[in-house]
Amino acid sequence: VDGRSLRTLARVPAGAAARERWKAPYAVIPRAALQLTLADAVRAHPACRLHLDTEIREATPLSIIGITGLHPLLIIGADGIRSKVRLALNGHGQAQQSGNVAWRLRLPPHASGLTGSHPLSGPNPGFDGSGPFDASLVTACLGRKAHLIAYPLGAGGGLNLVVVGSGFGQDGSTLQTGDRDVHKAVSTLLAGWHPHIRATLDRAETLGRWPLVEVADGAWHDGTRILIGDAAHAMMPFAAQGAAMAIEDAYELADALPATEDAARLVPALDRFVMHRKARVARVRSRGAFNRFAYHASGPVRLGRDLVLSLRTPEALSGDFDWLYGYRSPGLPA
Ligand SMILES: Cc1cc2nc3c(=O)[nH]c(=O)nc-3n(C[C@H](O)[C@H](O)[C@H](O)COP(=O)(O)OP(=O)(O)OC[C@H]3O[C@@H](n4cnc5c(N)ncnc54)[C@H](O)[C@@H]3O)c2cc1C
Repeated sequence: VDGRSLRTLARVPAGAAARERWKAPYAVIPRAALQLTLADAVRAHPACRLHLDTEIREATPLSIIGITGLHPLLIIGADGIRSKVRLALNGHGQAQQSGNVAWRLRLPPHASGLTGSHPLSGPNPGFDGSGPFDASLVTACLGRKAHLIAYPLGAGGGLNLVVVGSGFGQDGSTLQTGDRDVHKAVSTLLAGWHPHIRATLDRAETLGRWPLVEVADGAWHDGTRILIGDAAHAMMPFAAQGAAMAIEDAYELADALPATEDAARLVPALDRFVMHRKARVARVRSRGAFNRFAYHASGPVRLGRDLVLSLRTPEALSGDFDWLYGYRSPGLPA
């Protein structure tokens, strides 16, 4: 959707079409619900023990023994953008500022400005122009140096709104619209956008501001420690794939590890895992960079983008995502 005119630029079918095409649902899930699902799976697994509220200060075998009483054959650093495991591996634990900022807001279920209804609770009247966002769709509104994604928070949960702005310079603390007041910052960023969108954002609850950081270099393993998820490759949310890549990493690492505690077979297995995952993550990262270029375009680039989108069918646009959404991790049945 064009953020200024509210004109629909393109549609990519989801729902049954996604299941048919990619053999998987195209789904959005609130962070807390995903974390609970993962935590339940950990609790249910006989080989897992969960230590909550336990900070790893140093990613060394000694500190792990201090917590678990067991000598680790491998330390898996899934500890995000300020990873202590990356610090131990590469000598730097901080991710890089990207010059992009995300602001998050939430539109309660009964707020005006919502059309449609959640797929679990009713039919989808579509994007009909009476309100800027449809509660049954993922909507991306595009504009100069900014875009907005609106997506459902589940039955009765309203809509999550993420506004992402680019071109703020590397230092997140010196942002031009770095005002702590989310409404003010978003209103400045989206000046010139359609009044329906601006009025709806004014009514939304604010959740905060995130200067976005990335991790693009460094080793992923040293034979005794390995990084996965954001600790290894935090990326911009332009392809909305950071958590998806973290989950793929975890599944593929579990599949790659030797079944026995054989240290001689561990390093080659980690090498193969890293080589495979780096290629996949690099491709996703490039797609994110392309999305940023296309989403935030202005002037002739925007006109070119709109023309290309208008010439492509929804099926052709879906086909662009086959490599991403249709991906099967090694080890999964075809
Ligand atoms: C605005 C925004 C929108 C996004 N949208 C999407 C999206 O639509 N789709 C998507 O797939 N991804 C999205 N992402 C990316 C996604 O949030 C991350 O890629 C994902 O959370 C990474 O998961 P992770 O487990 O690697 O790290 P995290 O989620 O950061 O988890 C790390 C965990 O390690 C713990 N930890 C850290 N340090 C220590 C320590 N020293 N000791 C003990 N525990 C520690 C933390 O408490 C945390 O629980 C988005 C990100 C942002 C900022």
